[in-house]
Amino acid sequence: MTTLTRCRVGAELVDVELADGRIASIARAAGRPVAGESIDLDGRWLLPGLWDHHVHANQQALAVRRVDLSAASSAAEAAHAMTEHLAHVRLKEGQPIIGHGFRDGLWPDAPTLELLDSAVPGIPAVLISGDLHCCWLNTPALAMYGHAGHPTGVLREDECFEVTGKLGQVPDATLDEWVAESASAAAARGVVGIVDYEMTDNLASWTRRFAGGFNALRVQAGIYTEHLDAAVAAGRHTGEIIGGSHGLLTVGQFKILTDGSLNTRTAFCVDNYPETDARGLLTVPTDELVPLLRTAWAAGIHPAVHAIGDDANRLALDAFEIVGCHGRIEHAQLVRDEDFPRFAALGVAASVQPEHAMDDRDIAERYWAGRTDRAFALRTLLDAGAALLLGSDAPVSPLDPWVTMSAAVSRSRDGREPWHPEQAISVDEALAASTHSTVALGQPADLVAVESDPTTASGDDLRTMPVALTIVAGRQSYSSLGG
Ligand SMILES: [Zn+2]
Repeated sequence: MTTLTRCRVGAELVDVELADGRIASIARAAGRPVAGESIDLDGRWLLPGLWDHHVHANQQALAVRRVDLSAASSAAEAAHAMTEHLAHVRLKEGQPIIGHGFRDGLWPDAPTLELLDSAVPGIPAVLISGDLHCCWLNTPALAMYGHAGHPTGVLREDECFEVTGKLGQVPDATLDEWVAESASAAAARGVVGIVDYEMTDNLASWTRRFAGGFNALRVQAGIYTEHLDAAVAAGRHTGEIIGGSHGLLTVGQFKILTDGSLNTRTAFCVDNYPETDARGLLTVPTDELVPLLRTAWAAGIHPAVHAIGDDANRLALDAFEIVGCHGRIEHAQLVRDEDFPRFAALGVAASVQPEHAMDDRDIAERYWAGRTDRAFALRTLLDAGAALLLGSDAPVSPLDPWVTMSAAVSRSRDGREPWHPEQAISVDEALAASTHSTVALGQPADLVAVESDPTTASGDDLRTMPVALTIVAGRQSYSSLGG
């Protein structure tokens, strides 16, 4: 049994007793020593532990080890960053040099094979876009990954996912170590749970990690199409607790991508992208989507459908309606006015990533010009009754719910004027969309203590909210408290 003493919950100072992974009692702070182990929170704010509802755990662990291209404002700059890095690393024979995080939507120049070949000659180079939907390869890398003779070196969607999948093939023991590191970093930001949508057999990798002693986070492991039949055959269903994980690992959702992304201009929209006759890519049409949702739902596996463009969202909602199942839509970035009420009516949650709006506001203004009043429309979704789930899509944006909540609440970053501030939500709404429990008797002992009151914090203060303590299932996963 552990007691957290002098915690601020709302306006009150309380002592919170934890036993068997739950909140066993909450009483007005006694101000005197308590029996058993205690942690003095000295008036810090105690909140339910935070969830990130959309993470790519392996990509996140790998991304922090790659050349950071997030600041590159042109193809030439991105290529140059790779050249610079080359001078500081020693690569093994055949080992590729990998960059991560470029956003080419507003670049003045095109990423070309010639440019990357001259920046990184002779060594395979792969540059992965921030939205993970595009990668840019030089000639040795194209040859290495089966695309010799490709004219531009820029691969999108499935061709890109294939390459990033291969790049992610590091030995299990190494990858698990890196994932554990990024899980600890998440715990230090108050995260108690993630929904993992890595494009791999997540149930297998997380079962292995928990068997190896992982316990930093709760994990809901997503299932992709290629693993769906096996999951159904094994009788898996959403919410099922996987043995050997101390209750921390559960079966997540059936994840399926139906369109691309805004940055890569593959999000499937009603209207064409400016100055083109293209309106994005529908990667899974309705006649394929519906039977897949049926299969998953019949087995008790809830679908999570990736849809970014407004036509992709419309078709995803149609598919939920045809099948008559609940689930969630991942991203829901651009939605037709008439589709907002359908989320609540159909029992489809909107799993959204508010920081993407900060990354992509200029790109949205360019490629979704005249439509941004219904882009990243958190307020409209909530007002239409949709259940909202916040996440990061890490490594697309940081695995840090405070960054996510700041974007949702302030619609602003780096001192810029708020973008469509009418779509902001309140801190309480952002917290509710980032938590699975409350600070109340009998609730899971998933808790985070922070240094200041989030409900009165500015957007900037929310973004960098100092976390003092994180507890998962009654066990400390992070502490900055001395002693
Ligand atoms: Zn994702």
